[in-house]
Amino acid sequence: MAVEVGSGSVSRGFRSLFFMLTPNESSFQKVEEVPQYVQQATPFFIGLMVLELAVGVLRTGGSVATISDGLTSISAGMISRLPLLLMRGCELSAYMYVWDHFRLVELPWDSAWTWWFAFLGVDFCYYWVHRFAHEVAILWAAHQVHHSSEYYNLSTALRQSVTQPFASWVFYLPMALAVPPSVFAVHIQLNLLYQFWIHTELIRDLGPLEWIFNTPKHHRVHHGRNIYCIDKNYGGILIIWDRIFGTFAAERDKVIYGLVFPIRTFEIIFVQLHYYVYLWKRAVTYKTIGDKLSTFINGPSWKPGKARLGDHVDNPKVTGKEVPYEPTWSPSLQVYGALHFLMLLGTYHELFKTKLVCNSQCFFYFYLGVKLCFLLLFEWDFKVVQASLLWLLCGAVESCTYPAVRDQLHPAS
Ligand SMILES: [Zn+2]
Ligand SMILES: [Zn+2]
Repeated sequence: MAVEVGSGSVSRGFRSLFFMLTPNESSFQKVEEVPQYVQQATPFFIGLMVLELAVGVLRTGGSVATISDGLTSISAGMISRLPLLLMRGCELSAYMYVWDHFRLVELPWDSAWTWWFAFLGVDFCYYWVHRFAHEVAILWAAHQVHHSSEYYNLSTALRQSVTQPFASWVFYLPMALAVPPSVFAVHIQLNLLYQFWIHTELIRDLGPLEWIFNTPKHHRVHHGRNIYCIDKNYGGILIIWDRIFGTFAAERDKVIYGLVFPIRTFEIIFVQLHYYVYLWKRAVTYKTIGDKLSTFINGPSWKPGKARLGDHVDNPKVTGKEVPYEPTWSPSLQVYGALHFLMLLGTYHELFKTKLVCNSQCFFYFYLGVKLCFLLLFEWDFKVVQASLLWLLCGAVESCTYPAVRDQLHPAS
């Protein structure tokens, strides 16, 4: 697999994972000059996940991750970035439109003040993106992907939704009235990257840092399905927003991770899309238009006659003895899956590296490969076969339309 980072930028690439870049080295005049920080982080993601596994074995004598859950999470991360092959992210595209047409002032792109303002601004907006993603059911349908693992390790950080960016862009638009897109393009990436390392159980407490920063300890609570964890700790980099807006909870009882109603599957399309279908089915059972609409815009736990966020009395009680869903596969099948997956990871990396010259077959085989890998490994049943056919159909459509779309979006290339 080709590694994008040059020798001089290895340190910068690593530090970008912890937001340890100075304004000097991460300010750019034009959006086109902004590095693809997230894409360049792939080798560091892998390195740190391997390190976490090794430290986990040394500390606990067992594995902190499983093949099935880990690969499902990483594949969700890969799928979530596929739209970027065809277009700039929604967040940046919408941002640039507002900047071009409606900006009120132009903060200087090379000022440290602008950099720090953008740092706070993006993190503040992220708090609200994240809070709405939990409190509005149709947005939760996207974000639940990130919460669907019953494990909590670095791979969980990569379990991202492919549909979430199509809604989250709205929340950042106020910044486009003053902050240049090139500055925003840096901070939106670094904010996301910071949230990688906090997905671990191996770091227990960071002392005074816990007051200000979002840490593994605080984010574990966010991923919990214990009652005290629900709808808490939305912060991205800073936890102060939760302290200010009353959504902070400290870690107490053992956290049990995952969705309140675990999905008990590793079928990657199901993980991404099942909640939309669930919401639709729920909405059609209600009689009034108001109730039908409320199903989508109120909280996921809302029911007719309840407050906006509903209550959690119907939730299964968390006992602390819950065991994550983990069907057993033979070691040889697991090795096969892991090797196959590594090859796909290579293809994925190549796709992004060469996206302007990528041919349609490459894209199509990527679809096919990911799907086959999971078909063979995890859940071979009728429903999955149907989903796979749909998946292949999408792949075929994409492979036919990709060159035309690409030429439209990147006419200069
Ligand atoms: Zn969340
Ligand atoms: Zn998380």
